[in-house]
Amino acid sequence: MALHTRILLGLLIGAVLGIIANQMVGPENPVVAFVNEYIAGPVGQVFFNLLYMIVMPLVFASISLGVAGLGDLKKAGRVGIRALGYFVISTALAASAGLILVGIIKPGTRVSAATRDGLMDAYSGDAAQRVAQSESVTFGIDTFVNIVTRNPIASAVNNDMLGVIFFGIMFGVALTMIRGDRATVMVRWLEALNDIVIKIVEIAMRLAPYGVAGLIFGVMSRFGFDLLVPIGRYIVTVMGGLLAHGLITIPIIVWLTVRVRPWDFYRRVRASLVTAFSTSSSAATLPTNIAVAERSLGVPPRIAGFVLPLGATMCMNGTAIFEGITVIFLAQVFGVTLDVGQQAVVMVMCVLTAVGAAGVPGGSIPLLVGILAMFGVPGEAIGIVLGVDRILDMSRTTLNVVGDLGASLYVAKNEAGWTLADLPDDAGRIVPAQLDETPDWSPGEEFAEVQREELGKPS
Ligand code: ASP
Repeated sequence: MALHTRILLGLLIGAVLGIIANQMVGPENPVVAFVNEYIAGPVGQVFFNLLYMIVMPLVFASISLGVAGLGDLKKAGRVGIRALGYFVISTALAASAGLILVGIIKPGTRVSAATRDGLMDAYSGDAAQRVAQSESVTFGIDTFVNIVTRNPIASAVNNDMLGVIFFGIMFGVALTMIRGDRATVMVRWLEALNDIVIKIVEIAMRLAPYGVAGLIFGVMSRFGFDLLVPIGRYIVTVMGGLLAHGLITIPIIVWLTVRVRPWDFYRRVRASLVTAFSTSSSAATLPTNIAVAERSLGVPPRIAGFVLPLGATMCMNGTAIFEGITVIFLAQVFGVTLDVGQQAVVMVMCVLTAVGAAGVPGGSIPLLVGILAMFGVPGEAIGIVLGVDRILDMSRTTLNVVGDLGASLYVAKNEAGWTLADLPDDAGRIVPAQLDETPDWSPGEEFAEVQREELGKPS
């Protein structure tokens, strides 16, 4: 059986078993608790960790190779600005869709006080911790100054991806400025690093069917349907916003910018969808996303390696939708009315925080708490939605990575001459199915070519 079929099967089996466990015996049942603690949990965690451990080296290697491959600073700047434009516009569209939807459905006006108190009670511990976390999140000039990291290793250790990205960009830029024969050595080294981390992803993906099953089982057995019922309308609103964006806005953007048919686009990127859905992490999905962009969409490695790491942390369409809806929903629950002007500020904050959120599970939650406080909604209110956040997180992360892929195609078309003819024929194949094949592309050759052409030096 093809690996992608097995991954989907894992997703299904994990979910169904989880719901059955939740409905029949409940999460407190010793057997379910045991399975969660010693089987499903660890397997899921190992899968997640395997993907996560290579994120920083991958970001560094792919960004610097990407920048170096672009040839010069001017070109890198143009690509960066183009990507950023796409990120901001698509995220703003997403946030507006969410705000319109939540204004129409008004999910928060029907939450009973008893339900609210119950949820607040249940999650107050976690909420307090999140609130404390949010206090360390501040917006200001420092936010931008600190992107220029003073210690790239510390950035990597602290999951400060923007810092690592910045270091990678500087590294790549400088790489194009030194002597060709020396640059080549470094490029080869980076390429090897890149290949190695991608190989690790492929190895991790062998564990995916079990890892995905474990992760989903944990969520489903714990929360089942019960918790979903009281705030069903809120969930429906978020899901509706995500679906509308995924099924209407993104297909329109992709069609308008690169002329790829929506069905074909989604068919090609399904490995990324499954990975994002099961890991709830744009960062953990990044390796898969890069492989998918290159092998299933034909995006040149230097573009994919540059745009996707940026997108993993800066382009979060799904997160913007979720944040907008959640802020208004909680305001509704607490009887805070926001006028049009305030809603516009909510939108801007959603875009900004979606750019700033880390691509990890729940990465946007601390920032969301910050927005709530801005509008007089108690930060602890986050406890009301935290209980169902995982399923929403899984869904919004899926849209987040789709947005990144759209951006990479758009940039590839406008900056690297990508055309429809570059879409690989066998792209229906999910990346992990090619586990045992050696990659048929080599950034090394491409870079060597760029170097020969642009630097006029032998490689
Ligand atoms: N989990 C999301 C991501 O990785 C971030 C978030 O919205 O919490 O893209």
